Amino acid sequence: MSEFSEFIGDGFMTITLNVRTLLIALTLINLTFVFILLVFRSIQKVCPGYFYWLAAMLCVALTYGFAAWQDILPIFFAYVVVNTAALFASVFRLEAIKRFVGDQRFSIFNFLIPAFVLPLVLYFTFGQPSARIRNFFFTLPTVLLVWQMVWVLYKSYGKTQNIPARFLGVLLFLFSALSILRLFLWTISPPTDGILQNTALNLAAHLFLLFFDVSINVGFILLNTQRLSNDVLALNRELSELHQAIEQSPSSIVITDLDGYIQYVNPYFSELTGYSLQEAVKMHTRKLKSGEVSPAMYESMWGTIQSGLPWRGELLNKRKDGSLYWEFTMIAPIQNANAEVTRYIAFKENITERKRDEERLRQSELDGRRLNQQLQARLNEVTRLKAELQEQAIRDPLTGLYNRRYLFDFLQRELKLAKRQPKTLSLLLLDIDHFKKINDTYGHNTGDTVLQSVARLLQEFTRETDLACRYGGEEFLLLLPDIDCDTALQRAETLRQTVQETCVPYLDHRLSVTISVGLAVYPADGSDYAEIIQKADEALYEAKEQGRNRVISTAMC
Ligand code: GH3
Ligand code: MG
Ligand code: MG
Repeated sequence: MSEFSEFIGDGFMTITLNVRTLLIALTLINLTFVFILLVFRSIQKVCPGYFYWLAAMLCVALTYGFAAWQDILPIFFAYVVVNTAALFASVFRLEAIKRFVGDQRFSIFNFLIPAFVLPLVLYFTFGQPSARIRNFFFTLPTVLLVWQMVWVLYKSYGKTQNIPARFLGVLLFLFSALSILRLFLWTISPPTDGILQNTALNLAAHLFLLFFDVSINVGFILLNTQRLSNDVLALNRELSELHQAIEQSPSSIVITDLDGYIQYVNPYFSELTGYSLQEAVKMHTRKLKSGEVSPAMYESMWGTIQSGLPWRGELLNKRKDGSLYWEFTMIAPIQNANAEVTRYIAFKENITERKRDEERLRQSELDGRRLNQQLQARLNEVTRLKAELQEQAIRDPLTGLYNRRYLFDFLQRELKLAKRQPKTLSLLLLDIDHFKKINDTYGHNTGDTVLQSVARLLQEFTRETDLACRYGGEEFLLLLPDIDCDTALQRAETLRQTVQETCVPYLDHRLSVTISVGLAVYPADGSDYAEIIQKADEALYEAKEQGRNRVISTAMC
């Protein structure tokens, strides 16, 4: 037995180094590790298998705490509780390591081990007390559980150079080997005074236990720390790659605070706007405004991003040198872990060239449309002129009546129609009496006015299906389709009278003219138009012969 002294407070206290003090030390060490783990967890936030490891250490503390007072505690606590808590400690450690390597499966089988062992421990404590057999039923499952821990670590880290994992694996394996050795020693020479006997071997065994326990807990924390540092390294790498991507982005990227003050710009932004990172930081985004964008646009933008939604739109902005540029902007709110918007990020694409092209295209479209309109107007004019020409080609310019050319076409058509139907067709040939005299007396212009006045009367006289035309100098021809000889005679007579009664104003007096009319009828006067006109001409000649101002028909009406 050895003793050592320690300086505590203002005096000396003697602590005897025996198994009990070692067990108490183990209890305190485990409770300290519980505390360390709690602190570790509160700092690092992430610690896989944390709850299981905590439970394991509490079980270990309970095991050693009760074992330290094995000689004075009731047998139930001294043996049954101690063995069960120790087994649970191993189960929890195994689960903690499994969680740590990412295996989330809950192994009910491992939790059933203490339940199987408990009746055996009870039996060999109270029924047939045997420290040797009890120890066997306790050590065997413990070793099985520890080997599972080693296997889990080997499977996950066997091919890597992970030093904490190797350290922990080797420790656990050694621990299991020592447990087997202890079982062997206890089997051949069971301790007479329980685990508290202060033999050199027992003391050494508990010192080893202390060493292993501390090392295993340190190993677990090292493993966690290493994993965390790996995570941090990976995160750093990821962050640096992201940063590179943002820095090298061919689009402008701007990060602002919630009030629109710039916190970061990427190099492309500086290249585009002329503002360096140093100049841009702390600058308000409103400095980029060109003044050409409507305030409603900015209102809609702020409204959208303040409601937590991304905004997209085209903005005309101003460079440092005052020149303007177009950009397509996408602004999105950035949220922190608590889903609070803390910043805004804007991705901006320079679309000045595209806008310019669009403007050019729009302009050329406008020009094209204008040209098209001009062409259309020209075309309309040409069509109108063509129609006018066509009209002029068939009209007599002085009277506006149809001319002879048109008359012959029309007459041929009407004759064909009349033959097919069949129906009659009447033709009146009119000549102004003594017209020469009017020209000679009142002048050629007055003669023209008289001609126009007679022509107007003829037009008023004709139906829609009739045709009036100027046949010659002061001769007119009236074609009346579907009208028989009697009706035609009556209408010719009416016309003659109307002309006679109509006066043409001339200076301060009025002129009056008369007409002679020759009537010919299809089919009575012939079937050919020349023949019919000839007959009408003969009738007109007859009317002149008989004294003028009358209607003569060649046919027998
Ligand atoms: P009649 O009763 O026999 O028909 O006698 P008239 O004087 O009418 O005889 P004629 O048919 O020989 O004369 C026609 C005249 O009409 C001759 C010509 O100078 C005149 N004339 C022909 N065309 C025009 C015209 O466009 N304007 C004017 N003012 N006179 C015309
Ligand atoms: Mg004549
Ligand atoms: Mg005449």
